[in-house]
Amino acid sequence: MKITDIRFEQLEGVLESDIDLFRERLIRPIDIYPEHRAEGAKEMSAGRFQELGDGKWRVWNVVLSIDTDEGITGISGPMSVNEAFFVNSQLKSFLIGQDALATELIWDKMYRLLIHGRKGEAMFAVSAVDNALWDIRGKAANLPLYRLLGGPTRKTFPAYASALGFAINLEDAAATARGFADEGYTATKWFVRNGPMDGEPGARKNVELVRTLREAVGPDVDIMIDAWNSWDMRYALDMANRMAEFRPRWLEEVVKPDDIQGQARVNALSPVPISGGEHEYTRWGAREYFEAGAVDVYQADTVWAGGVSEMLKIFAMGSAFGVEVIPHGGAVPINAHLTAAQSPALTPLIEYLVHWNEFIQFFWKDPVKPVNGYITVSDLPGLGLEVDEAKVESRQTLDWS
Ligand SMILES: [Mg+2]
Repeated sequence: MKITDIRFEQLEGVLESDIDLFRERLIRPIDIYPEHRAEGAKEMSAGRFQELGDGKWRVWNVVLSIDTDEGITGISGPMSVNEAFFVNSQLKSFLIGQDALATELIWDKMYRLLIHGRKGEAMFAVSAVDNALWDIRGKAANLPLYRLLGGPTRKTFPAYASALGFAINLEDAAATARGFADEGYTATKWFVRNGPMDGEPGARKNVELVRTLREAVGPDVDIMIDAWNSWDMRYALDMANRMAEFRPRWLEEVVKPDDIQGQARVNALSPVPISGGEHEYTRWGAREYFEAGAVDVYQADTVWAGGVSEMLKIFAMGSAFGVEVIPHGGAVPINAHLTAAQSPALTPLIEYLVHWNEFIQFFWKDPVKPVNGYITVSDLPGLGLEVDEAKVESRQTLDWS
């Protein structure tokens, strides 16, 4: 089965929602500079969605399609225009004529072709192609991806509610977290806004948030905290020691992703497990984390770290090192297949970014969403992604040829 064309379509539509989708943002490494610390949540969304008022949001998503000479088309996404441009300029001419089912061969060739692109946006492009090829493999076999991967280990599993975008003032956070617990979620992750530059008052705010969340959800629901690469070693250890009494399940990305040794020191000394890896790439990046003992939970993202092919290698390595692998929530429909094909001991949970998924799954006919806090994997062939034409107000073919 030969690849005959690679196409990119930018879809535009209007999402209606009665919830305020971006009340708060996460802390960022650049927030050590006051002029950036002052930036708000809505300034972070440029290019992917725009608030129109009256509960309406304009949404843009780019979908990648790979056509074959047997009439099967694989799709993946959403992706950014930058990533589409990268696939078009660096990979498209090489891909045309390749055997679409030979995913391992194509991955190896893409990697060797893009030797400058081992991390970052080039690897996003490799991931998008690889994921679309797995969609083709599934459609060719008329099987959902999880069947191709040897699953299901189970078809329904607990999702954790990631609260990115929700207000974190104590009153609102308590109400939201209680709502998640009432809905059936068994775990919820929250994003702090304070770091070393905010001194002791900021540190107390972080701890108060965790105390409030624990009081809100009771003893039986897990709480996770994400520092998004914005703390340092000393601050992370102080936070871990002060938050430990509220039993967080993990503290995420407590130092910069390149500071693997620092993260390993925190993990060795912290009373709370450390997680990370969403800003790391491929099996080789993961190996450094595993060998250093940097994390107890590794969180590679399926649309960033190299796609389904690479995730399978990362899962295998995680199981050998005794580290849980719970993919970052950038692609819930694909992650559901991966989760359904791994041991529940290795991948016990799936991340669900409650607000973010309203945007990134907006154009899918069958968005994969939790019911009572649990996600069930799709039985449609391949990745199970199909564009819902009713939601597309306009479409633009991206063509740089
Ligand atoms: Mg994270």
